[in-house]
Amino acid sequence: MIDGRRRLVEGSTFRICAAIRYYEEPMLIDLHTHTRPLSWDSYLEPDELVERSKAAGLDGICLSEHDFFWKPSDVEALAKRHSYLVLPAIEVNTDDGHILAYGLEEYVYGMHRSHELAHHVEQARGAMVAAHPYRRQMPWFIDSDSDYQEALVRASRNPAYQYCVALEAINGRGTQKENEFSQRLCEVMEMRGTAGSDAHARLDIGRCATEFERDVSSIEELIDELKAGRFRAVDLSAVAAK
Ligand SMILES: [Zn+2]
Ligand SMILES: [Zn+2]
Repeated sequence: MIDGRRRLVEGSTFRICAAIRYYEEPMLIDLHTHTRPLSWDSYLEPDELVERSKAAGLDGICLSEHDFFWKPSDVEALAKRHSYLVLPAIEVNTDDGHILAYGLEEYVYGMHRSHELAHHVEQARGAMVAAHPYRRQMPWFIDSDSDYQEALVRASRNPAYQYCVALEAINGRGTQKENEFSQRLCEVMEMRGTAGSDAHARLDIGRCATEFERDVSSIEELIDELKAGRFRAVDLSAVAAK
């Protein structure tokens, strides 16, 4: 009798929680962007990036300059100026490809080796995502399905991926074929996929984003959600083209 009642109560509680969860608005965050002057190859001013991301319907962005960190106070000032979610990140050029890292605050010599980067990220309780994993891995000419499969297997042996919580399944500057390769790689490796515009210019903004199930308002919450896998890659290019 008591057991039966407890089950009923637990059942109702679960249904209520499920209903609340269902109505929470998902958040769209661009996990991968570049601005000048900190990224030498970007044409985007930070204020322009924020304004256009907002206009594109995104709820927040991560600043991920090449091998360079923003000063925390500058990130905060940018966020405040626009009342917008702006989070610090970095894109590290490692021997095993470009890696997006969340939760770090300074570049330390040695981070170009993925295992050393992973060590620093672990110490900081951060998270790593492999950027554009198709790069230098997807064959230009695919003669047969077995060649493609072999390329996927080769790519999956990248030692950096063991430290990553996800692979970038959609890169805003990647072609459809390149992103398809990344998505196949996610399947082969049974890893989750993020999306980031990799914006360097105006037209790159808003092409894709990562949709988070829960609210994210800080870098710590972003890392928690990445680690929990509560996100999915969303292609917004059809919307952005309008
Ligand atoms: Zn890159
Ligand atoms: Zn990039």
